[in-house]
Amino acid sequence: MIYKALYEWGAGQLKAAGIGEAALDARLLLEEICATDRSYLTVHGEEPVAEEKCRDYQEAIGTRSRHVPLQHILGYQEFMGLKFQVTRDVLIPRQDTETLVEEVMRYLHDGMRILDMCTGSGCILLSLLRYSNRCQGTGCDLSGKALAIARQNAGALGLEADFIQSDLFEKVTGKYEIIVSNPPYIPSGQIPGLMEEVREHDPLAALDGGEDGLDFYRKIIKEAGEYLYPGGMLFFEIGCDQAQAVSGYMEEAGYGEVMVCRDLAGLDRVVLGRLGG
Ligand code: GLN
Repeated sequence: MIYKALYEWGAGQLKAAGIGEAALDARLLLEEICATDRSYLTVHGEEPVAEEKCRDYQEAIGTRSRHVPLQHILGYQEFMGLKFQVTRDVLIPRQDTETLVEEVMRYLHDGMRILDMCTGSGCILLSLLRYSNRCQGTGCDLSGKALAIARQNAGALGLEADFIQSDLFEKVTGKYEIIVSNPPYIPSGQIPGLMEEVREHDPLAALDGGEDGLDFYRKIIKEAGEYLYPGGMLFFEIGCDQAQAVSGYMEEAGYGEVMVCRDLAGLDRVVLGRLGG
């Protein structure tokens, strides 16, 4: 089959399966399998595609039609301009989370110590390390499988970080200038209503924030002060309706300069504050 016809077939299949970005996903899968780029469709659309690649593409389209996330088929997701390996063991990095990284970067100085609580794929910590100098990074997660992915991502990016398996601060020692976290924050009752890609394929443990979605903020805020230097800063990603609650918890716990920042969609996405500030 020729390249263009294959793409059109794929887009049609995904559309019929109710995939939101059917044409985009069909193109990205074809580009991955054929090692082509975006312009190939317009410039070389009439070129035949080898039978083996056609078969691989048909299989990939079949998988995506069953609502397996694109990133699980590709095996990676770009985040902050870097490529992160992803599997079912980690939350797929979201573009919204780039807002969190960008806010931390406004306060990050070379040589600081950073703790990423609930690190998952490591995308937050590793982006911060990649865009700073001589910072020391520690990533914590309850999931050993997630940490294995985070370690691989560090290796692939040529970065060094400590990854520790820990139930929140249980195994954490020492003090940090920056603690950052994108904890699970979806209220348990909202999980059945999530998109199938998220509900069935992201790890539940990375999503479920308890009855009101705020369990992890309460636990992390309660303990973070012990692990921050005076004047150290705590940064959270939040669900768009959680800013008031999380800011309130931080103020009660003695954080100053508490601020809420919005993501590119204009939704509240980050809460930050300075210990004793
Ligand atoms: N932002 C993610 C979502 O909407 C949730 C991530 C999280 O709970 N930390 O699926």
